[in-house]
Amino acid sequence: MEEKFDAAIVGAGPAGISAACILADRGVKVIVLERGEYPGSKNMFGGVLYGRCLGRIIPDYAQKNCPIERNIVESRISYLSEQGSISFAYRDHAFFEELQNNAFTVGRAKFDRWFADQARAKGALVVCSTVVTDLLRDEAGRVIGVKTDRADGDLRAKVVLLADGVNSPLAARSGFRPEVRPGKVALAVKELIALPEEVIDERFGVSAGNGVTNEILGNVTAGMNGVAFIYTNRRSVSIGIGANLSDFARQRVRPYEMIERLKLHPAISPLIKDGKPTEYIAHWLPEGGFETVPKLFGDGFLIAGDSAMLFNALHREGSNLAMASGRLAAATILDAMEKGDFSSRTLQAYGARLEESFVLKDLKKYRRFPSFLETHKELFTTLPDGVSAALRTILTVDETPKKTSQRAAWQAMRSRTAPLRLLHLIWDAWRSIR
Ligand SMILES: Cc1cc2nc3c(=O)[nH]c(=O)nc-3n(C[C@H](O)[C@H](O)[C@H](O)COP(=O)(O)OP(=O)(O)OC[C@H]3O[C@@H](n4cnc5c(N)ncnc54)[C@H](O)[C@@H]3O)c2cc1C
Repeated sequence: MEEKFDAAIVGAGPAGISAACILADRGVKVIVLERGEYPGSKNMFGGVLYGRCLGRIIPDYAQKNCPIERNIVESRISYLSEQGSISFAYRDHAFFEELQNNAFTVGRAKFDRWFADQARAKGALVVCSTVVTDLLRDEAGRVIGVKTDRADGDLRAKVVLLADGVNSPLAARSGFRPEVRPGKVALAVKELIALPEEVIDERFGVSAGNGVTNEILGNVTAGMNGVAFIYTNRRSVSIGIGANLSDFARQRVRPYEMIERLKLHPAISPLIKDGKPTEYIAHWLPEGGFETVPKLFGDGFLIAGDSAMLFNALHREGSNLAMASGRLAAATILDAMEKGDFSSRTLQAYGARLEESFVLKDLKKYRRFPSFLETHKELFTTLPDGVSAALRTILTVDETPKKTSQRAAWQAMRSRTAPLRLLHLIWDAWRSIR
């Protein structure tokens, strides 16, 4: 690979391909290097993409046959105790009819391939089965390209965008980002369960390509700081669960045991009954929030997406932050091209752009949220059963006077979580999201 490129992008995920689309659109000579056999072959996520963020990159994505599985018209949050489930659901067809694909599910193997094809159509070169092993630097330490595992090895570029995901050994090896600490990432596992389309429609109460997301909290994570989810695809449901990596190490719970436990829960098993598991995959998630965002640029390089730890753990958003950061990195590279200056002096505008965008504004707003979860384990241990026991007591109809059953409900609650601890929890929760 003797040829010199204007921009080299490591990783054909949402961040890398978003940047490639914008750069190629403006005639920049851009190459994307992807270690997978094809874009998406090594990737997994829960499944929800956000139409407006994608629309900033490919405005006519629906006409271009973006492989949408289902449009999300209902978002559920469930809090599971050992046997019970408390749910909140918001359904509104405006999400599809007026807001047009606000959120929809996709499979990464299909979506990433489609997205990379859009970049190729605009003129980007997307090269797969190629691992970037290191960065090339000049004597002054400036990044001037990448080393790959191909026989024709090194590739020179005026600027390199690291969009290689949460694991990013490159960013860590180059000293741009500290090694990921187990307390700052989650390990998640996901299964794809095939079911006939009409069965999914019936079980989730939807039709005509509409779907549901269900975020699940409670003691399904065996006391570990984590969440689970079920999302509907056209002919399958994605079911997954994840928890903090250091919690996994401490509690010695195996991820597949957790997902099996989740699948057996009385609120979940009817949704997947008789389904056929077709895929099982594990992945990391950056959950450290704002405090773990590294320096985002330097001489000759920028970092975007999960590689820069841009993940909103409260709202479970990542792909949109990846797309937005890829887009803003591309805008900065375009400025640098115009000036002919790829030093951090010009590339620092990327940091400013991210600060002004929802990406860092949201992460900053929720900067206390990761430590809130770390310090309130009762959310995943005693509280679900306490709330469940209290509701069961109140909703049991017999001849007990209401005053007595309300007292008993409060007693059931306080026997599991002390009132002071509860007050603390509410106060800290409020502080972590305000
Ligand atoms: C279980 C789970 C559920 C999730 N659910 C959602 C959800 O529903 N909605 C949402 O918005 N977000 C979700 N996310 C987060 C979302 O997946 C990520 O935030 C998003 O994929 C980040 O995009 P990215 O382009 O930065 O990185 P990635 O998607 O990880 O892409 C990085 C790419 O770089 C490639 N690569 C890595 N190293 C190299 C190398 N050295 N050389 C060449 N190529 C390399 C990889 O193969 C990959 O293709 C979820 C994540 C997980 C793990």
